[in-house]
Amino acid sequence: MRVTGTEWVVGPDGRAVYLLGVEMAQRYRHAVGSSSPFYEGLERGVLRSTRCRECGASWFPPRRFCEAHLTETDWYDLPGTGTVTAATRVHSPPPFGGIDPPYILASIRLDGVTGGITHRVMGAETPEHGAAVVVKFIDEAPAHPLLAFAFTVEGVTP
Ligand SMILES: [Zn+2]
Repeated sequence: MRVTGTEWVVGPDGRAVYLLGVEMAQRYRHAVGSSSPFYEGLERGVLRSTRCRECGASWFPPRRFCEAHLTETDWYDLPGTGTVTAATRVHSPPPFGGIDPPYILASIRLDGVTGGITHRVMGAETPEHGAAVVVKFIDEAPAHPLLAFAFTVEGVTP
């Protein structure tokens, strides 16, 4: 905690009120629980998903249980490729920081799974609907674990 300043202001009843400015930082440790294999995959440079061993249904983002069979799902690695279904250029930073605007955000249908992700596409050009993309893992320690990867349009150097 740090005092940033003081001042006198007039309160709603017309009386002077002394204000003490305080800056506080809070740290949290958030357990991801059954999603830990996904984050382990990010550290190994692979996107991971889950599949029902009863019906073969798969999900991204991963799910722990199949809603049809109420059975625990199995983890597997995705090939890391996909197809852009929509994309836009973003001109404000994400709430957790780590990316300087402008940047490209795209909805991507991932290969090898039912589902996809809205995530960053490297490069200056907004990809067209149907563009093939491939995941690229970033070596630097990211501001958020989900920033450990982005996508590039196949055949285009960012
Ligand atoms: Zn199932």
